[in-house]
Amino acid sequence: MTSSSSSSTIVLVTGGSGLVGQAIKSYITKTNNSDDNNNNNNNNETWIFLSSKDGDLRDRQQTDAIFNKYQPTHVIHLAAKVGGLFANMKQKVEFYRENTLINDNIMENCRIHKVTKLVSMLSTCIFPDKTTYPIDETMLHDGPPHPSNEGYAYAKRLIDTMNRAYAEEYGCNFTSIIPTNIYGPHDNFSIENGHVIPGLIHKCYIAKKENTPFTIWGSGEPLRQFIYSLDLAELAVWVMREYHSPDPITLSVDESAEVSIKDVAYAVAKAMKFTGEVIFDTTKADGQFRKTACNKKLRSFRPDYKFTSMEEGVQEAVDWFIANYETARK
Ligand code: NAP
Ligand code: GDP
Repeated sequence: MTSSSSSSTIVLVTGGSGLVGQAIKSYITKTNNSDDNNNNNNNNETWIFLSSKDGDLRDRQQTDAIFNKYQPTHVIHLAAKVGGLFANMKQKVEFYRENTLINDNIMENCRIHKVTKLVSMLSTCIFPDKTTYPIDETMLHDGPPHPSNEGYAYAKRLIDTMNRAYAEEYGCNFTSIIPTNIYGPHDNFSIENGHVIPGLIHKCYIAKKENTPFTIWGSGEPLRQFIYSLDLAELAVWVMREYHSPDPITLSVDESAEVSIKDVAYAVAKAMKFTGEVIFDTTKADGQFRKTACNKKLRSFRPDYKFTSMEEGVQEAVDWFIANYETARK
């Protein structure tokens, strides 16, 4: 019996309004016939999806009030100050401080409320800059992160440190997921602050509408592995229900699915049916060249898991952006 199959399972998803939170909501709705109030009876789980309107998780008292109100037994902790390379370069202090405050408030509340399972999110971008490839879960603390995102990286790395400390001192069952770059519906499509795929989708949309060139920042040479948000959602729920170790688990597509930023840009142009000029602005930063992750651990549990192809996922994200242009975060 998994820890989540008792009749009183209450799953609190922090950051439930974001890219990954909305994907988990879709997955739970699809698989559990949940009603619009996020309650569902299959698996005897009640799911609660929080947004920042429910409380500011940087604030201890507001976080305490949320835990007192919902009394969760399980927490999937997604809420974070999140941004792409260019936002991380500009706001290292805020990326460090806000994420550290949020994570501390969540972990300490999970301890106090005897939460059965806490799953938090790390990222492949917080690994050492100078390393050997592919990177695996054991290499997280082996050297400094890339300077472009060190505020975010150190705040995130401390989650892993504290998962082990809470297990050792208090017997808590806290763990973490290491996803690669994520994309999909409900992403943050801000050109200035978002990640590369949503940024490119937004820029390509404008280029097509205004008949101007589609500009890719940097050389287009860096390599990335991308995971579609709906795939990540399914695997994150599996981690919550079935994976019981404080050691992190990488949720990544296979190494063979690594692509260049240039490949991604052309995939976006194709999905958008953009036929105009494509420009690479090499005055903009490239960031980390690669962060190729090994998904051997995931494959040892889920050898046959089939990831959504980038072509299909990018088409879904583009279609979603076009259909939701007025209300999408941008
Ligand atoms: P996202 O779309 O930007 O969503 C962030 C969520 O956090 C939103 O629901 C937001 O609420 C909430 N939030 C932010 N600040 C908050 C605060 N002070 N109090 C309460 N809620 C707050 O992020 P995402 O892409 O889904 O990322 C989910 C997790 O995955 C994060 O931990 C991130 O670090 C990690 N991750 C993301 C990527 C990626 O490529 N996106 C890659 C690796 C890891 P509102 O919408 O109401 O403001
Ligand atoms: P990272 O994977 O953590 O570095 O973060 P991003 O998702 O922001 O991806 C950054 C990579 O995409 C870098 O190589 C950028 O030069 C490149 N890139 C190209 N165009 C864009 C864009 O419009 N937005 C962003 N964020 N990155 C871009």
